[in-house]
Amino acid sequence: MAGLGRYHAKRRFGVTAEPRGKIGKRGNARSSAFVIQKHDATRLHYDLRLQLDGVMKSWAVTRGPSLVPGEKRLAVQVEDHPIDYNKFEGTIPKGEYGGGTVMVWDRGRWHPKGDPHRGLAKGHLSFQLAGTKLHGGWHLVRMRRRPNEKRDNWLLIKQHDDAAREPGDKDILVQKPRSVKTGRTLEEITQHKRKIKSKSKSKPKRKVAKRKKRKAKRTKRAKRR
Ligand code: MN
Repeated sequence: MAGLGRYHAKRRFGVTAEPRGKIGKRGNARSSAFVIQKHDATRLHYDLRLQLDGVMKSWAVTRGPSLVPGEKRLAVQVEDHPIDYNKFEGTIPKGEYGGGTVMVWDRGRWHPKGDPHRGLAKGHLSFQLAGTKLHGGWHLVRMRRRPNEKRDNWLLIKQHDDAAREPGDKDILVQKPRSVKTGRTLEEITQHKRKIKSKSKSKPKRKVAKRKKRKAKRTKRAKRR
């Protein structure tokens, strides 16, 4: 059963800016939201979240996704998150659960192959991603749980298709490090910098330029008369 009990129990909502959230829409069986949040906590990782049953099923991908099918990335399943979390970008205070900076690194829709509930139960989920950065087919494969492990370890693996890359090709994580939401780097988010300069600083300039243009037109017209 999907639920947010564990999500709520881990956080103090008066202290962190993360959303409390609630169980949301079940989503469309063929296409639901996905997000990947770059999370600079104790250790940098990338949180993959797939909308299912009104929550975001979540995995902490320790080294981040790789477009190279041979590069299997450890994905530790973590607590379900609310759908509202997909918009969260900012800093979780030090000492709080997950303390550190969170960036919306990629987002879009995901399309499971077959019944995702069956896939999750049997430990093999196949799906397509239609994001800004990530595309094509992916596998999540659950590994056998060892006696002392509290959480399920999965592997995130790129499928062989047009969106796949060869070993030695550019690393998407290095190539596209910025937020798809605000265009900021992790450092800029940490420093609470406003959204990219074009949105904050140059807007007034553009307005001034427009005003000047209008004024010039008016004087031109006046001269003609
Ligand atoms: Mn995380």
